[in-house]
Amino acid sequence: MKTLKVLVTGAAGRMGREVVKAVHGAEDMDVVAAVDPHHVGVDAGETAGIGRLDLPLEADLSAALGRALPDVVVDFTRPDGVMANLRTILGAGVAAVVGTTGLAEADLDEIRALCEAHDTACLVAPNFAIGAVLMMRFAQEAARFLPDCEIIEMHHNQKLDAPSGTAMKTAEMVAAARGQGSGDKTEKVILAGARGGDYEGVRVHSVRLPGFVASQAVIFGGQGQTLTIRHDTLDRTSFMPGVLLAVRAIVDRTGLIYGLEKILNDA
Ligand code: NAP
Repeated sequence: MKTLKVLVTGAAGRMGREVVKAVHGAEDMDVVAAVDPHHVGVDAGETAGIGRLDLPLEADLSAALGRALPDVVVDFTRPDGVMANLRTILGAGVAAVVGTTGLAEADLDEIRALCEAHDTACLVAPNFAIGAVLMMRFAQEAARFLPDCEIIEMHHNQKLDAPSGTAMKTAEMVAAARGQGSGDKTEKVILAGARGGDYEGVRVHSVRLPGFVASQAVIFGGQGQTLTIRHDTLDRTSFMPGVLLAVRAIVDRTGLIYGLEKILNDA
């Protein structure tokens, strides 16, 4: 039986279309509204390539929430719009699953406060692919023994933020787990940015090229050896089992949950 009602924001986007398809195809949930301010009136099912669902894309999130009364909203939109969406969604007491990246620490604090004030829940995951979650977990483990680490993330060239949310989360996890590394002795940088971004000593390099979906290599260096932990997303369906798992899990929670691994441990 279809019991969970899901509203999708960013429903006409690359990820949103996959979410519409995955939720519609799941036995226990249904898409009840689709919001995407720049594609109003087009049928969300047709945009997703699964045929007409009689769900026209709409612009007004508040109106859609009030009419469709979803249990959960799934948001894959843009770094500059996601917080306004979340103020509306969480402010209405509705739970959210957020894949949009580019959220800062202050945004997470605000989400936490919104959840508390409105007695609801929000899961934010920089990466919904199970393999990427495992990559981060294995990197955290490796960092305990090989503290010198650099991250190279590779994405398609339409991505708006850099570094990726996954790279930032990996850098945080590695930085928290590792001891003192041997560091690097670069004294003169000939080309600005050549050594990448610096997150507490973990260098992060962002590649943007057509052809990639999302890939990341976490490279550790040690005496006479290197270890590379790499994950490649080959298409966007890789994120969908994680998104559906999050939708099912979030309805029974309260507060902010950051990272898919938090619910994978319980699954
Ligand atoms: P996209 O193709 O640009 O899709 C975003 C869609 O949202 C577009 O149709 C956009 O319309 C629409 N939109 C913009 N502002 C909106 C708003 N306030 N409310 C509702 N819809 C809005 O981008 P994408 O590739 O799907 O990626 C979306 C986000 O997901 C990015 O932040 C990306 O980094 C992230 N992502 C996360 C994961 C993960 O596992 N967590 C995986 C892949 C991607 P316009 O194009 O007209 O602006």
